[in-house]
Formats: sequence, structure tokens, C-alpha cells
Amino acid sequence: MGTPRTVAIDGPAGAGKSTIGALVAERLGYLFLDTGAMYRAVALAALRRGIDPDDAERLSALARQVRIAIGPPTVRDGRAYTVLLDGADVTWAIRGEDVDRIVSQVARIPKVRDAMVEQQREIAKRGRIVMVGRDIGTVVLPEAERKVFLTASAAERARRREEELAARGQKRSRQDLLTEILRRDELDSTRTVAPLRAASDAILVETDGLSVGEALDRVLQVTRA
Ligand code: C5P
Repeated sequence: MGTPRTVAIDGPAGAGKSTIGALVAERLGYLFLDTGAMYRAVALAALRRGIDPDDAERLSALARQVRIAIGPPTVRDGRAYTVLLDGADVTWAIRGEDVDRIVSQVARIPKVRDAMVEQQREIAKRGRIVMVGRDIGTVVLPEAERKVFLTASAAERARRREEELAARGQKRSRQDLLTEILRRDELDSTRTVAPLRAASDAILVETDGLSVGEALDRVLQVTRA
């Protein structure tokens, strides 16, 4: 089949989707879109406006109003891409604990998802894209030519997240991160609209015990197969 035009990578929080997805895109010379950053940007906008994460009506309106743009890094500070929310750089702000806490609640709302999915499909029309998220292979791009479901045990994902935060000078206990990850897994997999699950035609890649380089090789191998 050769190299597909559209690669969908889904999986739970901390499975390495963003890291691996960005590297796969770089290797293939494709655009990379981390859809989690879009839901995070809406969650951040809600926090800043004091909108309750259970207020579906206001959040649905908000998701349609805000302008989210994701592009190549504009600052060399370790970021894989730059996220703009109404023109302001929120690349690091969307990674905060406050956003972690409410993002899955915000992403549960059907109209918030509709607004994001519409933009994601628009971006994918250009082709040559690696898109990562929870529902890319199942809902956003069911016709994607290659689908990968990336997983790792919850303990391993918490360990990676701790390391990632430490690299940015932030400290959170592993137990706290594990609880957070399990809570998001639960919310993401049990919601009624677009729950986290592998598409029936996705290739499962387990990354426990694999280095980033090894996981990348495995994903590239199944992507190009
Ligand atoms: O991938 P990341 O952990 O940054 O995503 C943050 C949250 O956004 C997820 O926990 C999930 O609730 C939501 N999300 C989603 N659908 C996607 C991507 C992310 O619901 N395609």
C-alpha cells in the first residue's frame, strides 16, 4: 500500500501519541495535528471566562466562538507546535493542571465536539497529515488509510507524564498523575459521543517498555506496511 495520505493515531492519555505522532509526521514530511490541544484550548477559554464545565450551552457557544490555530513552533522552548487561542500563545497554558482537571468534561459535550470535528476534517482535506486524538479513526476520519491505536499501562503513562513535567521544571506526584489519568480514561471511554476506543481496523501498538525511538520505529513500520 505504501505511505498512506492520512494517518490516524488514537489512544489514552499519556500513551505517547503526541510525541510519536509529531515524529511520524516529521519523518513523512506530513502535517501534524494534535486534536487534544484543541479541546484543551476550549477548556482554557472556559476557565478564563469562568464558565462552569457542566454548562453545555455556554460551552457549545464558546467552542464556536473561539479561534484556535495550531501551527509550527514559534518559540524554541521544547514545544512541538504552537497553539494560538484568539491570537494569543497558549501552548503551555493548555498543559496546566487546571486544564487537565476539566478538559474531559468539556470534551464530553456533543456540540463542542461537533465544532472541533468540523475544523479537524477541514484541515485533513489537504491530505498528508498525521492526526492524533481519541476518536480520529472512529469518527473524525473513519476513511483514514492507516489507523494506529497506541496504548501503554496506566502506571507507565503516569511515569512518563511525571518525567515530562519534571523536564519542564514542574513537580506532581506520580500517584496524583495516575489518579488523574485513570479519571480521564474513565470519562473519555464511557461518554456517549465518540468514546475512546480503537477502530476495528486500527493496528494496536503497545508501548510499555519501549523507548521513544523503538515506539517510533514500530509505528513507522505499521504505517508504511
Ligand atoms: O490528548 P490530550 O490528553 O491532550 O487530550 C486532552 C483531552 O481532550 C482528553 O482527555 C479527551 O477528553 C479530549 N480529547 C477528545 N478527543 C480527541 C482528543 C482529545 O475527547 N480527539
